[in-house]
Amino acid sequence: MLAEIDVAIIGAGVIGLATAGEIAQRKKEVFVFEKNHSFGLETSSRNSEVIHAGIYYPEDSLKTRLCVEGKSLLYELCDSHDIAYKKLGKIIVATSENETTQLEKLYEQGRRNGVEDLMLLSRTELKKLEPNVEARAGLLSLSSGILDSYNLLKFLYSQAREKGAEFVFGTEVVGIERMRAKYRVEIRDREGISAFISRVVINAAGLNSDRIAQLAGVDVAKAGYKLHYCKGEYFSLSSKYRNVVNRLIYPTPEQAGHGIHVTVGLDGRVRLGPNARYVEAIDYGVDETQREAFYNSVQRFLPHIELEDLDPEFAGIRPKLQGPGEAFQDFVIAHEEKTGFPGLINLIGIESPGLTASLAIARYVGRMVKELFA
Ligand SMILES: Cc1cc2nc3c(=O)[nH]c(=O)nc-3n(C[C@H](O)[C@H](O)[C@H](O)COP(=O)(O)OP(=O)(O)OC[C@H]3O[C@@H](n4cnc5c(N)ncnc54)[C@H](O)[C@@H]3O)c2cc1C
Repeated sequence: MLAEIDVAIIGAGVIGLATAGEIAQRKKEVFVFEKNHSFGLETSSRNSEVIHAGIYYPEDSLKTRLCVEGKSLLYELCDSHDIAYKKLGKIIVATSENETTQLEKLYEQGRRNGVEDLMLLSRTELKKLEPNVEARAGLLSLSSGILDSYNLLKFLYSQAREKGAEFVFGTEVVGIERMRAKYRVEIRDREGISAFISRVVINAAGLNSDRIAQLAGVDVAKAGYKLHYCKGEYFSLSSKYRNVVNRLIYPTPEQAGHGIHVTVGLDGRVRLGPNARYVEAIDYGVDETQREAFYNSVQRFLPHIELEDLDPEFAGIRPKLQGPGEAFQDFVIAHEEKTGFPGLINLIGIESPGLTASLAIARYVGRMVKELFA
């Protein structure tokens, strides 16, 4: 007889951790399986650590709704549990007439999305706030910030464990087979392959989430779940630029990302990135030959930086549903009952603003699970 559990969560990134806490709170038997030796070693620790306001996406999308809700939940959590953050604000800058028109559109989009604290800035107003930034106009978002993502992950992990979730590290899910109303889940660890039965399976496997859906038998091509990897590299600016900006400074957005932006860490260090390059494989190396492209991109609005002051730092990879040149794609957070997999919940394409939205995503999934056990 195989062991039986209520809920198996695949992946201990920020989504798996937050979801585990949310569900375990309702006294379900929840196990989280993670192939790495610890939590949060992939996309959740390879990002800009920005708490996004929710400006960019269509108002009825999950990306917007869960970002706006998640932002408030995250600030509350950070306040009540001493997780370091700074609500330092962000300015999206326009360096051409065309970009100025785009900023006005973003302002309208942000207002429709429920982001109430946006302000359009003239060149003079922008200069007063950010003397080192050169641009024609700006869009100020007061509720954007940065946080210590490692401490957030650590907190979510401890909280989930306190609520009763069990974590199984160094264990990869390698098979999922539907057995009427339950799933037989096959795992591989140092001792070999074994299996158990779970009533609910939550796929929070990040860059691997399309493959996990496929393992379970979902027709990934038909469902539109095939992921594209889109790499984002970062360069740091040397310490002489410590106070070069006071806020996060973003260019007007590009198609695949938010554009190479300037972030200030909680320690005051300034970082540039990420760029957005579609790649075939997961490789976290930073291509030093990108230095000049970074410099050219940021130098447009931060003219005083020098090429030799940029140092390669780290990279992350976006799990994108949107291929090169394709239109906007929302997060997939789906209970697969209609496709013939009751009890299987897929989270696919959880790219930015996934960190900001994590607590709201956990609540959303929590409601799906509650219905399954009603
Ligand atoms: C460059 C970049 C910048 C970003 N900047 C921001 C930002 O500033 N603000 C923001 O809100 N969001 C940002 N994001 C998005 C955010 O980082 C992600 O949305 C979020 O971290 C996704 O978390 P996750 O738990 O889904 O994925 P992950 O953190 O990747 O976790 C998935 C986990 O599943 C595990 N796993 C996979 N397959 C298996 C298997 N078969 N068995 C067991 N375990 C498995 C993996 O090992 C991994 O630990 C950024 C992303 C990138 C790439």
